[in-house]
Amino acid sequence: MSRKFKAFIIGSGIAGISTAIRIAVNNFDVTVFEKNACPGGKIGLLEKDGYTFDTGPSLFVQPENIEELFKLAGEDIHEYFNYKPVNIGCKYFYEDGTVINAYTDKKKFAHELNTTTGESQEKTLVYINEAGSIYKNIGTIFLNHSLHKTSTLKRANILKALRNTKSNYLFSTLHQSNKKQFSNAHTVQLFDRYATYSGSNPYQAPGMLKLIPHIEFSEGVFYPEGGMISIINALYKLAVKKGVQFKFKTEVQKIIVDEHKAKGIVVDNKNLQADVIISNTDVYFTYLNLLNDKRKADIVLKQERSSSAIIFYWGIKKEFKQLELHNIFFSTNYEAEFDAIFKQKILYSDPTVYVNITSKFEPGLHAPANKENWFVMVNVASDKKMSEENIIKTCRQNILSKLSRLLNEDVESLIETEDVLHPQLIEANTSSYLGALYGTSSNTKSAAFFRHPNFSKDMQRLYFAGGSVHPGGGIPLCLKSAQITSDIILEDSRKWQ
Ligand SMILES: Cc1cc2nc3c(=O)[nH]c(=O)nc-3n(C[C@H](O)[C@H](O)[C@H](O)COP(=O)(O)OP(=O)(O)OC[C@H]3O[C@@H](n4cnc5c(N)ncnc54)[C@H](O)[C@@H]3O)c2cc1C
Repeated sequence: MSRKFKAFIIGSGIAGISTAIRIAVNNFDVTVFEKNACPGGKIGLLEKDGYTFDTGPSLFVQPENIEELFKLAGEDIHEYFNYKPVNIGCKYFYEDGTVINAYTDKKKFAHELNTTTGESQEKTLVYINEAGSIYKNIGTIFLNHSLHKTSTLKRANILKALRNTKSNYLFSTLHQSNKKQFSNAHTVQLFDRYATYSGSNPYQAPGMLKLIPHIEFSEGVFYPEGGMISIINALYKLAVKKGVQFKFKTEVQKIIVDEHKAKGIVVDNKNLQADVIISNTDVYFTYLNLLNDKRKADIVLKQERSSSAIIFYWGIKKEFKQLELHNIFFSTNYEAEFDAIFKQKILYSDPTVYVNITSKFEPGLHAPANKENWFVMVNVASDKKMSEENIIKTCRQNILSKLSRLLNEDVESLIETEDVLHPQLIEANTSSYLGALYGTSSNTKSAAFFRHPNFSKDMQRLYFAGGSVHPGGGIPLCLKSAQITSDIILEDSRKWQ
């Protein structure tokens, strides 16, 4: 049996913990260093005045990625974590009074779109089903392999997959492609919104992002019991069970490199040696701060950052029967909104507002009786300006006037507790440059498909996992990143002494 290799992981985001589990069950001795007091990174919890809020992600899809980790570790997931399907993936509100329930059952959804917008049921089903077959064809290659290793690409037969991919997925923007396929402007806006799942602009990002709705309408949307934080709690418990050690409140100061080989880290001004180093922190800060390599850090920034967000956590002293778990209140001019976010980098006065209410799904658990915990988010530029006091104040006012208008209720008078998160705080809490939620945007084909590799090309034994590297940000992609990175480490380690 080969010797037990020692691995250091920098950061306990979801990709850091998952990588730790994957290599620990393969006989690695793993320690995770986390600067914060608890695991999870962007997946956090806020408890305030009898309310609880998930501070980051709120949408949970593809639970099989989590199931697979438990299977790999030989543990019964249900002893750690449970989740259930959601029937309405999102409820959409438009300024003209149109309301659309996006049922996760695709036939029911196609019928709903037909009733509310007149969109042909057949067109909707063709769109979702076609995305499903392209997902199986090329999406799975992108999600399961490093695109920077010719050996894995040859195995996956990427050229054949590309030949079988319709041109509008590759050569049109998401918006152009949706506009061609649908006749109703509300339907186009609804499907354009999927660009925001990677922090991108539908008027720039490639049509390939049409694969995302396939996941919701064919595979489903789920709710993790206890909220999103329960995913982290379960994975942390599993990692500890598999022997992973966690050092909290321990910031890594430097990665030690000698003769093009990563050999350890500096923590509390002490050198610690390991066989392999995995960075789960933003690849930009990895180069800038941990490797002291400004040139490489600047190269990372050549790919545009994803959008950031301003989020208000509001304890609301009333129940809104007309709202669901996930709700969207659309802007009237979507193109102008994205122009403000990505090009002008200014606050948009009529933002699309997302409201997530987990107390809908677990009444009494996240809010006092007859009250609701509102997570209220608008997308903004990843830019320090978006954290200025006057911007936050204006943003709050824009949101309140939109919600009060569309819900016909004075929402401000119902807020009994409040907190806020903005780009600068996201950067401070999770070291994500400029508060980008998803690392790089997918606003160009190269940014969408060729993110930073999961390994260093010029430093041996240095690897990367998380939202700022391949295949990208968001929980499902971060879990895939952990899988790709650990597969490469396990393969490389066969050659190590
Ligand atoms: C407001 C918000 C809403 C979102 N909504 C969704 C959603 O609905 N669905 C979805 O799938 N995704 C969503 N996302 C994105 C998702 O949260 C992220 O893509 C994902 O959680 C990133 O995980 P990660 O593994 O890359 O690490 P991160 O969560 O970025 O964590 C990195 C960790 O590294 C630590 N660290 C950094 N530097 C050091 C150092 N030098 N030493 C020690 N530790 C260090 C940090 O403290 C942090 O804990 C959202 C994100 C935010 C912020």
